Amino acid sequence: MTDHTAGGFRLTLRRIIARLIPGLGYSRCMHCWLPWSVATPRDVPHGPMSATFVVCTHCWPHTTTEQRLHYARHLVFGIWPEPHDWPQIERSYRQEDPR
Ligand SMILES: [Zn+2]
Repeated sequence: MTDHTAGGFRLTLRRIIARLIPGLGYSRCMHCWLPWSVATPRDVPHGPMSATFVVCTHCWPHTTTEQRLHYARHLVFGIWPEPHDWPQIERSYRQEDPR
């Protein structure tokens, strides 16, 4: 079994478990869908007092920068009334350690 297959299997398992746990909207890892009550968010700081998190510490090394940006864009433009911080947030995600 390759690493990719093993990782895909683990992701599927996490998503099955995630479906069993109640939780609403964006209170979950956007990759494996586990709620933050059981998953640990991987913070991305983009200012002295601000940070966002879209995937958990488990999913971080299994996602690409583009995937995380896709989730972050969804978060920022989906629920924030004024996504004027987006350029700074996008820069932070690109500068963050990919692993
Ligand atoms: Zn996750």
